[in-house]
Amino acid sequence: MVDRLNDKPCEQTGLRCPDCYKGMIDKWDIHSFKYGTGDSAIDISVRVPMKYCAECDLSFLEEEGEVLAHEALCRSLGVLSPRQIRDIREKLHMSREEFAKTTGFGEATLGRWERGEGIQSYANDRYLRILQQPNGFNLVDSVHRERL
Ligand SMILES: [Zn+2]
Repeated sequence: MVDRLNDKPCEQTGLRCPDCYKGMIDKWDIHSFKYGTGDSAIDISVRVPMKYCAECDLSFLEEEGEVLAHEALCRSLGVLSPRQIRDIREKLHMSREEFAKTTGFGEATLGRWERGEGIQSYANDRYLRILQQPNGFNLVDSVHRERL
């Protein structure tokens, strides 16, 4: 059955399906994906806003959906999300460069974690959680200064 709504680019999104050129609609739905390989692979299911083509069933996530999916993955892994990592730094009113200099994290690595392009190891996650504590950064800063 053809949904007439989809005969033109949807007013809601203005997007056309890249496969069949019908209009796409916004719909919140469960997005499921696998992370990792073999026995250590985990299954994640999360409700996200998706773009759907009602004509050919093609669907994809845009930025908001990708961010929510990544946050769900971080929750499942038990590690801080990109937003939580950025919050630690921003509460200290520091640039990435300043924060990296004191903590010893690579500036580019930190940027990847904050953008959700990479996930910190459990060791680095614990270190980040120490930095999240009220006096955590000062403690690291004093260790850093001892070495200067
Ligand atoms: Zn389509």
